[in-house]
Amino acid sequence: MKSFISLLTLLLLCVTSAPSLATEKTELVVYSARNEQLIKPIFEAYTKETGIKIRYITDKAGPLLQRLKAEGAHTKADLLITVDAGNLWHAANEGLLEPLNSEVLTTNVPSALRDPENRWFGLSKRCRTIVYSTERVDPSSLSTYEALGEAQWHDRLLLRTSKKVYNQSLVAMLIAEHGEPAAETIVRSWVDNLAAAPFSNDTKTMEAILAGQGDVAVINTYYFGRLQQKNPELKLALFWPNQQGSGVHINVSGAGVVKGSNNKQEATRFLEWLSSPKAQNLFADANLEYPVNPKVQPHAQVAAWGTFKGSDINLGKAGELQSSAIMLMDRAGYR
Ligand code: FE
Repeated sequence: MKSFISLLTLLLLCVTSAPSLATEKTELVVYSARNEQLIKPIFEAYTKETGIKIRYITDKAGPLLQRLKAEGAHTKADLLITVDAGNLWHAANEGLLEPLNSEVLTTNVPSALRDPENRWFGLSKRCRTIVYSTERVDPSSLSTYEALGEAQWHDRLLLRTSKKVYNQSLVAMLIAEHGEPAAETIVRSWVDNLAAAPFSNDTKTMEAILAGQGDVAVINTYYFGRLQQKNPELKLALFWPNQQGSGVHINVSGAGVVKGSNNKQEATRFLEWLSSPKAQNLFADANLEYPVNPKVQPHAQVAAWGTFKGSDINLGKAGELQSSAIMLMDRAGYR
């Protein structure tokens, strides 16, 4: 009888421990605000290398954050991937992300591009920089974001809507650097120089320069890259502003491990892999972005845009000051 019981105990131990080990190893669930066509090849590469399957859903950042909040501790999600530091900051601020203690991540991701409490990590960089008409603008007349408010750009500046988080992050970083009153003066001077009402997206903003509606604009580098791929003779060029001062405004797409995840170790390992040299080009190049890992070279088309100094103010400020930025833009009449 005694040996029967110990045999039974042994059997029970086997059935309870074996399957959990097996499932733990084989699947991760990702909620992603980054487009499916950009993430799917990366997930497939990871599965091929490790055998770990990745299930995912994609949606805009807002609905994904709402969903994570509603699911709380019962969520099936292990990892959240989203664009813009403002969104990542909100996820962390809502308590949806787990602080990670990973030397791999803190080595691979520069400190300005990750949460000071290590709840989110940038995985690819995009610059929100100046683009100009090569037919009507001498680049030597350009210098800084602030100087786009000078009289020489009157009726020549084009901007995307202030409703877009990219511009909210840009203005939040201006507040971080200059303080609110000075940042408001800058935004007002931009509004005074607008040649047309703000556009709904970066591509339309650049197309308006090509159509002669204006001469300079502020856009994300990868949208410029997409236009350039369609038309290598594009009459537009990028300019890197603020090189004597704070540097180009950088933003990221990035990720964090979800607080309710049952599989934090595997999720962290996947995040570490995403920041590693072998995955960084897969992650960044598909969208013509810059790798965050300083050891990794960007795609040749991106590298051809030249080198620049980027801002090293921590991107968490983009989230922290987002509501101030929204109110400031409203006061300044930036629609
Ligand atoms: Fe975008």
